[in-house]
Amino acid sequence: MNRDDVVARDAADPLTPLRELFALPEGTIYLDGNSLGALPRATAGRVAEVVTEEWGRGLIESWNTADWIGLPQRVGDKVARLVGAGPGEVVVADSTSLNVYKVLASALSIAASDAPERRIVVSERSNFPTDLYIASSLCRDRGYELVLVDSPEEIEGLLDRAAVLMLTEVNYRTGYLHDMAAVTARAHEHGVLAVWDLCHSAGAVPVDLGGADADFAVGCGYKFLNGGPGSPAFLWVNPRHVDRFEQPLSGWMGHAAPFEMSPGYRPAEGVSRYLSGTPGIIGISALECGVDTLLAAEAYGGLEAIREKSLALTRLFADLVASRLPGFTIESPLDDAQRGSQLSLSVDEGAYAIVQALIERGVIGDFRAGSIASGSASAGSPDILRFGVTPLYTRYVDVWDAVDHLVSVMDNDEWRDERFWTRGAVT
Ligand SMILES: *Cc1c(COP(=O)(O)O)cnc(C)c1O
Repeated sequence: MNRDDVVARDAADPLTPLRELFALPEGTIYLDGNSLGALPRATAGRVAEVVTEEWGRGLIESWNTADWIGLPQRVGDKVARLVGAGPGEVVVADSTSLNVYKVLASALSIAASDAPERRIVVSERSNFPTDLYIASSLCRDRGYELVLVDSPEEIEGLLDRAAVLMLTEVNYRTGYLHDMAAVTARAHEHGVLAVWDLCHSAGAVPVDLGGADADFAVGCGYKFLNGGPGSPAFLWVNPRHVDRFEQPLSGWMGHAAPFEMSPGYRPAEGVSRYLSGTPGIIGISALECGVDTLLAAEAYGGLEAIREKSLALTRLFADLVASRLPGFTIESPLDDAQRGSQLSLSVDEGAYAIVQALIERGVIGDFRAGSIASGSASAGSPDILRFGVTPLYTRYVDVWDAVDHLVSVMDNDEWRDERFWTRGAVT
């Protein structure tokens, strides 16, 4: 295989026209769409229109005339199409961290009512830290214990005592992909509620919340949904639970009639009760443009085609690393069924500097620090070089060229240069 073969694969790729939907900087190979999705071409114009027309001219009237008030549900309905949820089941609101709080609190309320003797919440030590921080404070406040496992196999043994199983479908470090339907079914067999974080799966892999009969889900707007930095997040509640309990951040936007301005809280019906404060209209408008890029893919095979290309891209990446970069270890599962839309690598030393040297060459991936083995039975995890692929705009030739650059960075010992060793505030 040579570079021409890879270029030919791009020419034959049915998703190729979708790259035009993005404003990508010339000469950059962007492999970090799993951390911050690229800018859709439509976004700048749409945001300008919201600001100058809807806000500038329409002023406060736009809450009604532009239906700003319905935007969290309207864009939620679009997100629903990407995650196997029905209309009226998803809202866009707040950040993932806050949404984790809201849905986990509701899950604990259900568990406290249906199975009060169950006092533990189970998650993975390798889960994204904010999920664990939020879960840990909520568990502390409610008298639950947060139990963290080191491998998916350990979950099974805890299910008879667990109230809630809270997992991220695709692991942010390794890209490990859970089988949501199977894990949810096992949880339900043992009377455990399943809360799923879709931050690294929404827009990247086909998700079927309804088919899996999951209980709650949250997800991020700025990763594969291309909503922009700090984009609002989304949440989903299974319709069988949605009207059972209030969520704890019971702000006026989740009230049944916010403009009654009554002193007592009465939750809205359905998932709208999971709103809290006034929605960020500019941010949600930008998110809508990002979600639209994924819905545009429906004409080219949709998420099934995205998934197929994503796996082909990460497989190509893994094959090239295996044959050309013997010093690197592939930390992502090689089994397609267990791999999300990224390839993670580790190396004996210099992971951070290697990523910096690649960035100087125009290849943007990122670095995630490993954890030091703690006193407990848990093993430490290595520093990771992380490369996300976004089939809407990542080409096969991008993967080929990125590996070429990585080979050069290593062969020339380029990464040892001092300028690559200073860490920024954000890695
Ligand atoms: C990116 C990510 C988050 C981010 O949460 P914010 O509240 O947006 O900062 C949370 N959880 C997971 C699993 C993520 O991947």
